[in-house]
Amino acid sequence: MAGTYDVIVVGSGAAGMTAALRAAALGLHVLIVEKAHKYGGTSATSGGVAWIPNHGLGGSNDTREEALTYLDAVIQGPVNRERLEAYVDTGRDMLGFLGSLGVNFIPMPWPDYFAELAGSRTDRSLVMPMWNGRRLGDKFPLVREQFPRFKLFNRYAMNLEETFTIAARGKGWKRMLAKVIARYWLDQSTRRVTKRDRWFTSGNAVIGPLLEQLSTRNVEIRLETKLEELLVQDGKVSGVRASRFGTAYDIAARHGVIICAGGFEWNQELRDRFYPVKTSIWWSSTPQGANTGDALLAAEAIGAATEHTGEGWWAPTMIMPSISASNFEEVHQAVFDAGRPSSVCVNRKGDRFVNESCSYDRFGAGMVADQKKTGANLPCWLIFDSVFRAKFTAGGFLPSAVMPDKSIPIDWWDHYIFKADTVAELAQKLQIDPTKIENVVKRMNEYAAKGEDPEFGRGSTIYDQAFGDPTCKPNPALGPIVKAPFYAIPIHLGDLGTKGGLKADAKARVLDGNNQPIPGLYAAGNATGSPFGLNYPGAGGTIGPAMVFGFIAANEIAARASNSAPA
Ligand SMILES: Cc1cc2nc3c(=O)[nH]c(=O)nc-3n(C[C@H](O)[C@H](O)[C@H](O)COP(=O)(O)OP(=O)(O)OC[C@H]3O[C@@H](n4cnc5c(N)ncnc54)[C@H](O)[C@@H]3O)c2cc1C
Repeated sequence: MAGTYDVIVVGSGAAGMTAALRAAALGLHVLIVEKAHKYGGTSATSGGVAWIPNHGLGGSNDTREEALTYLDAVIQGPVNRERLEAYVDTGRDMLGFLGSLGVNFIPMPWPDYFAELAGSRTDRSLVMPMWNGRRLGDKFPLVREQFPRFKLFNRYAMNLEETFTIAARGKGWKRMLAKVIARYWLDQSTRRVTKRDRWFTSGNAVIGPLLEQLSTRNVEIRLETKLEELLVQDGKVSGVRASRFGTAYDIAARHGVIICAGGFEWNQELRDRFYPVKTSIWWSSTPQGANTGDALLAAEAIGAATEHTGEGWWAPTMIMPSISASNFEEVHQAVFDAGRPSSVCVNRKGDRFVNESCSYDRFGAGMVADQKKTGANLPCWLIFDSVFRAKFTAGGFLPSAVMPDKSIPIDWWDHYIFKADTVAELAQKLQIDPTKIENVVKRMNEYAAKGEDPEFGRGSTIYDQAFGDPTCKPNPALGPIVKAPFYAIPIHLGDLGTKGGLKADAKARVLDGNNQPIPGLYAAGNATGSPFGLNYPGAGGTIGPAMVFGFIAANEIAARASNSAPA
């Protein structure tokens, strides 16, 4: 055995770091094994928003009852009730624990994703304030970098408010832009050593402080160390077989192994096995090649059950060549773009299929449903006019004020982006019946004038309107599509990870095919089935449960360890 620990945590994302930190704080000797050469997983690259109802922060008067009313309205299909309630009841404790260490989340105003349902609120999404990454010393460059779109020109760190204001050219955006750039260049001591911005925002601002706390407690994190198999002795998980650069070795865990190895979004075979429609690993906006479902397969091999594996956390994406080398492609999220005014989405038959302003996960579910029905989605088309093009991003295409048409390489036209002087000509380029698209656009223009979309209810909730354009009247999510030229980009069924995984209970114990806990095996985050089943209740609906169930797993192991300790 290459070492013996009380607890081995697999994966260093939000779930893994929270579990490890809590276990270490409860006096356990902890090891994290991390397959990648960087810390933080998808969590580090993410927006870093955590959806935690009933959190009690900032004077919120949300309650357990209101949270459950909302979740009951949102969730369709069976979920483990005890697990759901454990989530609602424990979020506050997890936040209190982190707060006691000086790691303080703050609520941000963000409508829940089913704003029309009973119990919805606008204060359940939490973020971490901007954080100085250089506090990590040598570990600063080893934290996974954020998703490129969350940095201005891939370089300047922005918090969420700056990201949204600058992207939507909201009030004061120019001053904000100048401030973001000045903050970077005035930081001369960092500029002398690296191009990377010292300011950690979004997901980096969650992972940075957690990593600092783990370092303070001397928790060992072995990078480039991959879980290969789970070891079982006398019916109990007793450790892991790990490998580093292909060399395998065993590590023992006295009290438990916590699987926090993310989902299976980068495993095409598991996608094909679980998803009802054909998808591709290349549409995911998560870190390439990291989460390949290794832990799911290792746990299945010792009898673990899975649940909610039929869907991803959908986040529509588009694919664009790299600016520096056009034979390499990059994935860009288009999560808020499809809902901006003066645009419409259609499938490849030319039919609308969803309220385009709904949240990204609902949009993705709409794509799946339409693909099952028509076989003509995946990809679908985002069609927009010159007003949209001037103001908003379309996947990786920045507004024309920043990225004019003449700066788009000629080999991208009619491959990654399409343009025509009339709607009918554009439809012909997309190989769709022109009359059909002309009629869709005509109807959208009527809806824009009235401010109501009787077909799909676009712009009818505060969520839809929050990501529209406040200058667009009467409805911020509905604008006319009238100004030539007209454009289109293909939209893919991208994701932020997978929703399903190992079946775990309210105590984060992994269950077998008979619904019995597998002794010594725990799991949290995207490695498990979501406590919400197939629905995404609000911004942060994956990181919230990842951290809470990581915390619960550590509590459970510590409680059992103290019960089993010799007197
Ligand atoms: C651009 C973007 C923005 C997002 N924004 C948000 C947001 O604001 N709020 C939100 O809730 N969700 C968001 N998400 C989704 C969210 O990031 C993930 O759902 C969440 O981070 C999953 O956390 P996790 O700890 O389960 O997994 P991860 O953070 O992915 O961590 C899993 C870790 O396990 C490691 N691992 C995998 N296999 C092995 C193995 N065999 N052995 C050892 N280690 C292994 C991986 O390398 C990785 O480091 C976003 C996603 C993206 C891509």
